[in-house]
Amino acid sequence: MDLKEMLKVGCNQLRVDVNEGQIDQLLTYKDILLEWNQKMNLTAIEEDRDVIIKHFLDSITCLKVKELKNDGKLIDVGTGAGFPGIPLKVCLPNLEVTLLDALNKRLTFLKEVSTQLNLSKIEFAHGRAEDYGQDLAYREQYDYAIARAVASLNVLAEYCLPFVKVGGFFICQKGPLVSDELKDADKAIKILGGEVVEKMDIQLPFSDINHRIVVIQKVKGTPTKYPRKAGKPSKTPII
Ligand code: SAM
Repeated sequence: MDLKEMLKVGCNQLRVDVNEGQIDQLLTYKDILLEWNQKMNLTAIEEDRDVIIKHFLDSITCLKVKELKNDGKLIDVGTGAGFPGIPLKVCLPNLEVTLLDALNKRLTFLKEVSTQLNLSKIEFAHGRAEDYGQDLAYREQYDYAIARAVASLNVLAEYCLPFVKVGGFFICQKGPLVSDELKDADKAIKILGGEVVEKMDIQLPFSDINHRIVVIQKVKGTPTKYPRKAGKPSKTPII
């Protein structure tokens, strides 16, 4: 099966609608990713097939979250090489997307991807989530904050929930052992104004990998002392 077919069949298995043009955009992104990966460290996953499954289809699983709509504003916290933010932007073109990362060279790459894919309504933010979370231009301005592979859930909640408007959602992609993380993050989620509304089991197509997506709704404002200074949430997580 060629890569285009894999993406199509994978999306079908996940029961998410992705059109031909979007599949082509994703494949262009994959080519740029692997080309740039020769000169800068963007991904340890280098085989075409693995990139399609573990980066693209894995990002696309977020489209199964029924709360995530094709409008409003989303911030991808610790986006790295653009996952899941860029595949979501491609599949939900009306969404306004901010890609945030502490590493500037990754943002240089993401800007190039955005230009080549002709993406609009996309913003790049270089810096720490803890700093942006205290900036009023970003704080409680988003319908969705999303993150994959950035930190444990109690730390991630402090990075992400400050960005979300009351009524919006923090969506996080986690491994199968998220139940333990959820127990440890219970207090942090509450303090930061969140409430878990959904835990989804996801079987990644063409693999035996199981993932969880946790959806947390923001039910009240985040106290102004959060997020704490850069480095503090990971050094002394709320427990
Ligand atoms: N989300 C991407 C993915 O799943 O492929 C990247 C994951 S990578 C393991 C973690 C990324 O989060 C890195 O690019 C790192 O620079 C960024 N990061 C970690 N802590 C951060 C923070 N406090 N603020 C902003 N970015 C952060």
